[in-house]
Amino acid sequence: MKDDWIDIEKDQKHIAREKMKAQRLRKTQWWKNKIAAGICHYCQKRVTPKELTMDHIVPLSRGGRSTKGNVAPCCKKCNNEKKYYTPAETLLQKLHNNAHNVSTPQKPSQE
Ligand SMILES: [Zn+2]
Repeated sequence: MKDDWIDIEKDQKHIAREKMKAQRLRKTQWWKNKIAAGICHYCQKRVTPKELTMDHIVPLSRGGRSTKGNVAPCCKKCNNEKKYYTPAETLLQKLHNNAHNVSTPQKPSQE
């Protein structure tokens, strides 16, 4: 197995190319149907189509591609929570936080 996972991380061309593909994918009827359904891929909640963004399940920065298998409608809330993590990593982090009971991080503004 070729270890292109790490190589691709540095490949800015890959990201630029896949972003362009994502733009094209957004214009397809396939994607419009997904948006029209109005369901977030992650929380499975019904939201207005305007709330949904195209999310890469494996982020482009991690070597993900703009294919039908790797993009999903994502609500703003999940998009904010997800940030740079893959779903598996987000899940692991939640488990970690639960295990250590640190669900609320310290707020620096409170003194
Ligand atoms: Zn969601």
